[in-house]
Amino acid sequence: MERRELFSSLANSFSKKEGQESIIRPPYYKDLDSFYKECLDCDNQCATFCEENIIVIKEDKTPILDFSLGGCTYCDACANNCPKEVLSLENKKRVNAKFEIDILKCMSWHQTMCFSCKDPCLDDAIKFLGVFRPSIDENLCTNCGFCVNICPSNAIKIVD
Ligand code: SF4
Ligand code: SF4
Ligand code: SF4
Repeated sequence: MERRELFSSLANSFSKKEGQESIIRPPYYKDLDSFYKECLDCDNQCATFCEENIIVIKEDKTPILDFSLGGCTYCDACANNCPKEVLSLENKKRVNAKFEIDILKCMSWHQTMCFSCKDPCLDDAIKFLGVFRPSIDENLCTNCGFCVNICPSNAIKIVD
């Protein structure tokens, strides 16, 4: 929790999608190029030590986050175990993703009571209007992604 609270206080720092594909990198990286320069001959310790097992190594040998597997606790393990400093605690960077609720898919926007996303959001970033119509408060959201795979209607989307 302490780490999550620290990140709550930091300014948002999103990066754009790389090319056409939506690529979500682990937190704590300095620049995107370093993944392609340094990760190719690495044993992928970031994925091995990720306490949530959400780091997946792509075919090109670079690490991405898969929020269908869970969320990021900002535990620091990936940065602490990266031998090449691609990930480093010196880079206080959040996950480079932004989350939104798709009101066309969200049950609560269609008069069905649902609070599935509210509980896993430890930052209390999902705000309801009364008991319906939730939205994500960008100022509180830490981009952890824990709300994504819990939504029964797949309504939480990752946007630029
Ligand atoms: S900070 Fe921790 S939970 Fe998040 S991606 Fe790195 S190792 Fe995984
Ligand atoms: S541990 Fe560091 S160098 Fe190795 S794959 Fe992960 S980010 Fe790349
Ligand atoms: S809204 Fe989702 S991504 Fe943002 S802090 Fe809450 S659980 Fe994490």
